[in-house]
Amino acid sequence: MRIDGRKKNELRPMAVTRNYIKHAQGSVLIEVGDTKVICTAMIEEKVPPFLKGHKQGWVTAEYEMLPGSTNTRKSRDRNRGKIDGRTMEIQRLIGRSLRSVIDLSKLGERTLWIDCDVIQADGGTRTAAITGSFVALHDALSNMVNKGMVKEMPITNFVAATSVGIHQGEPLVDLCYEEDSNAEVDMNMVMTEKGEIIEIQGTGEERPFSKQELEKMLALGEESIKKIIDFQKETLLG
Ligand code: UDP
Repeated sequence: MRIDGRKKNELRPMAVTRNYIKHAQGSVLIEVGDTKVICTAMIEEKVPPFLKGHKQGWVTAEYEMLPGSTNTRKSRDRNRGKIDGRTMEIQRLIGRSLRSVIDLSKLGERTLWIDCDVIQADGGTRTAAITGSFVALHDALSNMVNKGMVKEMPITNFVAATSVGIHQGEPLVDLCYEEDSNAEVDMNMVMTEKGEIIEIQGTGEERPFSKQELEKMLALGEESIKKIIDFQKETLLG
């Protein structure tokens, strides 16, 4: 039994509230246990300079934790005058994950900005941000299709993410903060509906881990991401 009574392969309760923010073309509040992230998708009618004239669009992401989202106040990045390394790594991961399931040539010369704001952190904020922002992006793109801005849905696949890890020798999925901060091994997995891997970030924080342990974590992550994608589908398609 885990700290919060879950089984090893049990995800935390997940909830996604769509159309959470009025002005964004797509927006959700995603709750994964006590982790809460607002994800918005907004259109900008231009592409970054390196894509000008390439007849394609772009999808990019920003991520931030609100000062009150953690147990000790987290100063805003802008107040420290630079984006910290963790924030940069996470926002680039979110952007890469979403771009991997979008046909950018169908977007037109525009950028979809994904903004992920963590309002409460309890482990797994980056994976919640990826799962939630896919839904926000899907909604924004559906709106664009309905308005005739794009001819067809540029989405090629579903994508979702979760964390896996080893805690007291046991492989676990979807670690809460208490588990995460005591885990021997910590890994984030991003996968598509087809079970293809987009990205894996695995770290032996307390000790090295074996290939056998890696296999166990991969299996646990794959089975769990399938459940999360089923949940995204129910949320989006009813
Ligand atoms: N965390 C925190 N302050 C920070 C960074 C992280 O309190 O500056 C907590 C937060 O609960 C977060 C957890 O530590 O969810 C794990 O952080 P990690 O960097 O592994 O990213 P995450 O699991 O949120 O993607």
